[in-house]
Amino acid sequence: PIIVVVSAMGKTTNALEGIYHHFIKTMPGAEEKIQELQDYHFDIAKNLFPEKAPVFSKINALFDEIRHHISQKPSMDRDFEYDKLVSYGELLSTLIVSEYIGSQNLPVEYTDIREVIKTDSTFREARIEWEITTALARKTFTRENCIYLTQGFIGSTLSNLTTTLGREGSDYTAAILAYVLDANAVTIWKDVPGILNADPRWFPQAVKIDEISYMEAIELAYYGAQVIHPKTIKPLQNKNIRLYVKPFGAPMESGTVIHDIQGDLALPPVYIRKENQVLISIQPRDFSFIAEDNISEIFARLAKYRIKVNLMQNSAISFSIVCDNDESRIFYFIGELKNQFLVKYNQKLELYTIRHYTSEANEMITGGREILLQQRSRRTSRFVLR
Ligand code: ASP
Ligand code: MG
Repeated sequence: PIIVVVSAMGKTTNALEGIYHHFIKTMPGAEEKIQELQDYHFDIAKNLFPEKAPVFSKINALFDEIRHHISQKPSMDRDFEYDKLVSYGELLSTLIVSEYIGSQNLPVEYTDIREVIKTDSTFREARIEWEITTALARKTFTRENCIYLTQGFIGSTLSNLTTTLGREGSDYTAAILAYVLDANAVTIWKDVPGILNADPRWFPQAVKIDEISYMEAIELAYYGAQVIHPKTIKPLQNKNIRLYVKPFGAPMESGTVIHDIQGDLALPPVYIRKENQVLISIQPRDFSFIAEDNISEIFARLAKYRIKVNLMQNSAISFSIVCDNDESRIFYFIGELKNQFLVKYNQKLELYTIRHYTSEANEMITGGREILLQQRSRRTSRFVLR
């Protein structure tokens, strides 16, 4: 059998997050947002179905549930409330897609994934109960020549409360199902030809990468490439299941395959840009050398404010870090350090990482720009640029 895992349509999850904020803050204005989302789904359905098709009343029924839900007082468990509301994106998309495939006389079977993927109750970031999920999946997805259609991103606790697996979690759902069912392969359908060596929005010469290893994909994600989340890669790597990334507009094209590759592939340079970076350099006030105890104090504060360090470097008397300029966190972090350290910082910088760099690639990125900091290892070069 084939299992089709469907995510929410367009920007639906973001829209539901907006409605959720209205709900928990009991702010007026939720109804307009709900209506907008309902119209959006209706417009899609109008393009797919005849006027009196049953799908329309089914969409309405889901929106009635949303309205009923937010007419009540939110419980104190905010994350629980979030999952209950935000999961409607996938319930709506799978409803529309399964009704449509059914109307094309294809053998589709709709499955509510909450009856298969069981999780703990860490709402918004639920962890999989692997044993039960494996047993349920093997009992559910059995019919040959069947297209099973189900939701990404959501699951449920043992007591059937809806959970979500973290934003962009639909890829992860596919990986979980592939893992527990020993699938031949997973394909993620996207609006790009595959994994590219740069974001074509700022690098028009971007080219597709035909194949990379699981490890390389994880490395790229670490540096900030918008590729596949490591959480998705891991189960596939464990069972050596191939992952294809393909364009839904051209399904016969080869896309990118991520699989087990021993040794090195000749890859083109891969460019990863992070914008709005801040470079913070920290020196002990007494001009002493920067030592392990200083560094451990700096890290304790980074952890406290949940600041993720994108790059770090030290010299005799200073320790430098580059991170996303999340202003409120950075402000308090610097404020606290200032008692003990001299802190200087530069904002509005860009951090470029080039995997498999060449001297031409480095030159192309840095040419004519001021380099505030750079690092180079055998495979990776990194530049902080103004
Ligand atoms: N709809 C969810 C989200 O937007 C899951 C996904 O798209 O993978 O985060
Ligand atoms: Mg999505």
